[in-house]
Amino acid sequence: MKQISIIGAGHAGTLLAVGLVNAGYDVQLFSDKDAEGIRDQTSPTGTAAIFADSVATELRLGAADYSGQGAPMDAIHLFFSPKVGQELIGFGSALEEATGLATDVRLKSYDRMKQLESFGSEVHVETVSMDRLDEIADESALTVVATGKGGFSSLFPRDEKRSVYNAPQRKLAMVLVRGIASDGSAFSNRLPGMTPVCFNLFGGAGEIFWVPFLHKSGEMVWSLVFEARAGGPFDRWDDVTNIHEAFATAQSLIKEFVPWDWPSMKDMEPLLDDPFSWLKGSFAPSVRTGSGVTPGGHVVMSLGDTSVSYDPICGQGAGSGIRQGGQYFDAILARSGRPLDREWIDGVFEKFYSSHVEGTYRFTNTFLEPLTSTGVRVMTAAFADPRLRGPLLKSFNRPSTAFPWLSERKDTDAWIKTHTGRSASSVVARGNAKALGAMIKNTLTGANFPRAEATVPKPALLASRPL
Ligand SMILES: Cc1cc2nc3c(=O)[nH]c(=O)nc-3n(C[C@H](O)[C@H](O)[C@H](O)COP(=O)(O)OP(=O)(O)OC[C@H]3O[C@@H](n4cnc5c(N)ncnc54)[C@H](O)[C@@H]3O)c2cc1C
Repeated sequence: MKQISIIGAGHAGTLLAVGLVNAGYDVQLFSDKDAEGIRDQTSPTGTAAIFADSVATELRLGAADYSGQGAPMDAIHLFFSPKVGQELIGFGSALEEATGLATDVRLKSYDRMKQLESFGSEVHVETVSMDRLDEIADESALTVVATGKGGFSSLFPRDEKRSVYNAPQRKLAMVLVRGIASDGSAFSNRLPGMTPVCFNLFGGAGEIFWVPFLHKSGEMVWSLVFEARAGGPFDRWDDVTNIHEAFATAQSLIKEFVPWDWPSMKDMEPLLDDPFSWLKGSFAPSVRTGSGVTPGGHVVMSLGDTSVSYDPICGQGAGSGIRQGGQYFDAILARSGRPLDREWIDGVFEKFYSSHVEGTYRFTNTFLEPLTSTGVRVMTAAFADPRLRGPLLKSFNRPSTAFPWLSERKDTDAWIKTHTGRSASSVVARGNAKALGAMIKNTLTGANFPRAEATVPKPALLASRPL
């Protein structure tokens, strides 16, 4: 059998490589850095928090299981302020069967590259040029390009209609910190005893959220993510150039805009032993094509961020790359020897688009935009009735299932009735009354969201594992 070649050793490329090697395929992986270089000399390309279906796909393809190694991401909690200073709606829910985790993608790449080497697969450390890509594609049954948002993504034309936006929607930053407990004792103002994704949504300004994160060292830390609308109050990252400035900027934004969480975070520290533990940037979310053609006329297949890049507001990019890897894996096995040609590539990608990307993109874009009246109705109802919170927040695991109830009024009302047994209008009326009470409290006292109690950070759940 001719080889399958994969270019790019991010979490998406390495997952497909491991899956195919486990299934007996001859795979060669090309990476611009060796395993140690990715682990020690790069930033993670994002928080890459994934939910249960993506975790299951990783395990199905034979990748390492990190679920026992750190605190799970076992809940989602959100505070919604229609504008900065107006503390209105807060609720959360356990994720139960949708529970996931955020594991450092540098650790995944490192572990999988070592796994591939232990299987005797070829892992070539070279920055693949366009000419070299042609050579590789010429001698391979299939060449998969997983080089991230930059790399060779220009080989795959952007689908303007599907991409929706042609400019970045947020200025992004991520900072990893230690010193916040991950044993369930932090964020007592949200879901005590749990380690939730803690969202703070601010109409007009952007979003700020924390995610429990398994660092490449094995230490449980937290990933702080900042989504700033350009020109808004969170747009303070342009001059940030190093970990100290990143941490100081994060700290000042939290104290100023998220005072309800600050008591749980006041002892946080930057990871000075990992100078790459932060990033900033912006990009236009893009849906590209599944197939591309090299200058030499060879057809190649896109994967991960090279195919589709999502704004991280709903934490869907890494999960999408994993599901795509899972679908490619199944399609390659099902093809059993027949050519992995352009027609096949386009068919596989279209299936992935319609089964996952379309709904996930729509879900993400729903939260990038000001909430529609239907979105407000869903939030208000979930604020009123705890029975709606799980079904709403578990849709982060299967975003396509949020439609049509997240977008169509009549379906919203049916969804509310199904989960509460009560008419939508009565549930929403109760939510509106509760919101009015919150507004009055906010006006009278200057605060509505419960403030965390200060926590004494406990040692991380895990001993650091040797690198
Ligand atoms: C702030 C932020 C937060 C995020 N949070 C989440 C989240 O919570 N959940 C979620 O699901 N997603 C999240 N994401 C998105 C997620 O992190 C990315 O979708 C994912 O990490 C992309 O992985 P990838 O393997 O496709 O690409 P990459 O990680 O970019 O990997 C590509 C690899 O290819 C290599 N390469 C490039 N060019 C070449 C070449 N010519 N030759 C050889 N190698 C090459 C690169 O060096 C790199 O190692 C977030 C993103 C950001 C920015």
